[in-house]
Amino acid sequence: MHLPKAELHLHIEGTLEPELAFALAERNGVALPYATTDELRAAYRFDDLQSFLDLYYALMAVLRTEGDFAELVDAYLARAAAQGVRHAEIFFDPQAHTARGVPIGTVVEGLGRALERSEETHGVSTQLIMCFLRDLSAESALGTLDAAKPYLHRISAIGLDSAEAGHPPAKFREVYEAATALGLRKVAHAGEEGPPEYIREALDVLGVERIDHGLRCMEDPELVARLAADRVPLTLCPLSNVRLRAVDRLADHPLPAMLAAGLHCTVNSDDPAYFGGYAGDNFDAVRDALALGPEQLRTLARNSFEAAFLDHDEERRARYLAEVEAHTFD
Ligand SMILES: [Zn+2]
Repeated sequence: MHLPKAELHLHIEGTLEPELAFALAERNGVALPYATTDELRAAYRFDDLQSFLDLYYALMAVLRTEGDFAELVDAYLARAAAQGVRHAEIFFDPQAHTARGVPIGTVVEGLGRALERSEETHGVSTQLIMCFLRDLSAESALGTLDAAKPYLHRISAIGLDSAEAGHPPAKFREVYEAATALGLRKVAHAGEEGPPEYIREALDVLGVERIDHGLRCMEDPELVARLAADRVPLTLCPLSNVRLRAVDRLADHPLPAMLAAGLHCTVNSDDPAYFGGYAGDNFDAVRDALALGPEQLRTLARNSFEAAFLDHDEERRARYLAEVEAHTFD
């Protein structure tokens, strides 16, 4: 769907398509345990979280140089732009790369170089969000924030991702305080597999401005009322929810109920190479499975620009919002 939209929940490592994985593996002399792109494509049809994570981390081995990271970003932006994405706030996981010997500077400079020219090349404005792996320690996150200090001009915000259960937001209180002192904005994954309480903690202890996923707030009416009253943006990823079994079928997704409850929902792709589609594909899928009409789709697009970190450029936000209003559905 070409409706203009902002993508606010996108892991750049999750945009690695099999063809690019093979090209980079060959260039870098990395052996992949798959003979052909078809065989690898078949492995992308995993059916649980662990097989997804195994494949996801195994394939990252092909990303070695600044040029590799730049190419990954370019490939994503081309696909996103073709599906109406006008602004993208992109997550990356520095610890997944530094753990295998790639310096954080290589990662940030490679991503940053491609993002710098994204408006000119793809017509997409961008920001970069540095995420911490929540199954690693708080000390590791603090060390990563420290290592990122020379590159903060390229980074707008911090986030928290990977396996949620058993790793409550409060574990990262100190790193979020340190990031606040550095002038960074804050988001966190919460309430995907973790309980509604994690959403409260992300807001109250970490001071996040947006909740990534947040689906399980629906189990807690008091929390729903609070999120709606405070207009806290939730970055939902419907196709991801189906692939990782947060919902059984897209037709069961709570998005319509969430919109009806007045929640500030947005629709995003999470790890699009792995979960069956990019931002526009997610819009198409919810339109079809949940029978969303043009006004609901327009609300989702409007919400995405309202939730974007564009406070330094309200003129741009207004321009994007005007594009949403002017869009005609065919
Ligand atoms: Zn995510």
